[in-house]
Amino acid sequence: HSKRAGTHAYTVYDPTMVDRRGEDAALSGSLDGALDRGELHVLYQPLVDLSDEYPTAAEALIRWQHPTKGLLSPTQFIPIAERSGAITRIGLWVLEQALQQLQIFQSHAPASRPMHVSVNLSPRQLQEPTIVHDVLAILERTGTDPRHLVLEVTESALVDETSGIAALRALREHGIRIAIDDFGTGYSSLQYLTRLPVDILKIDRSFVAELNGTPEGASVTEAIIRLAQVLHLSTVAEGIETPQQATELKQLGCDTGQGYLFAKPLAATELTKMLTKAHTRP
Ligand code: C2E
Ligand code: MG
Ligand code: MG
Ligand code: MG
Repeated sequence: HSKRAGTHAYTVYDPTMVDRRGEDAALSGSLDGALDRGELHVLYQPLVDLSDEYPTAAEALIRWQHPTKGLLSPTQFIPIAERSGAITRIGLWVLEQALQQLQIFQSHAPASRPMHVSVNLSPRQLQEPTIVHDVLAILERTGTDPRHLVLEVTESALVDETSGIAALRALREHGIRIAIDDFGTGYSSLQYLTRLPVDILKIDRSFVAELNGTPEGASVTEAIIRLAQVLHLSTVAEGIETPQQATELKQLGCDTGQGYLFAKPLAATELTKMLTKAHTRP
């Protein structure tokens, strides 16, 4: 059988496959220009200190306002940008946006509790030979204290990627902190963790979702928090949606929380309002 066999070719010809590939190609083509056409923007989701729910940081999360497809989530286009290489330019653009915005956030928070910003770094970006130089140049240009920046990488970016680890080590030596995103979902060995240039573990939201007041529900989250304590790493729990989850995480000794319970990813102006409220509240 071949495609030309028409209706009899149903075992060979799968139109959904072709459509999906066609779709990718179209998105990939228009992604190149999306940045220049001003179709990309960044939202900011607050991270709060679990002891008092004060916002201490914001994670930059990219969005694409597509002219015909509407608002696209990063899960729909970041993988495409990784494959095409567009992520290199887009990723640095997000970093620059986030650090410019950080200056504004900091002007709305007391200096005793300065805001931090977290930016996701894709594995492909870490492989760029100029990554360390590029990040430092943007810090310099925006007048940012490197200690106020966290770069989030996934475990998969760290496994077997010697050059990426060297880049992270160099960035960390400049005072930038490194978080492992979606921790617990990858395949890196725990022994490995002790040798990585890492400061923060972000507990994946699938484990937070299991918290239900029972020891079984808390088992993985608790193990990650204990591990972090032994290694002198701090912990962030992502995907907190209920007050019970927040309470349980606090009791387990988790430092920081992020999730719809506190706020969804917000436009920068909305987060600025939230900050103003937080530090003027009684
Ligand atoms: P991530 O880095 O793990 O970011 C957290 C994701 O969880 C965000 O999805 C956020 O909106 C979502 N989230 C936060 N709180 C909750 C909650 O309480 N419940 C649920 N169900 N979800 C919650 P988003 O914004 O769609 O981003 C998805 C992923 O795309 C990110 O996962 C990150 O891996 C990637 N991404 C986003 N922006 C960038 C970027 O600028 N560069 C790169 N390389 N990747 C990015
Ligand atoms: Mg992240
Ligand atoms: Mg995450
Ligand atoms: Mg995640």
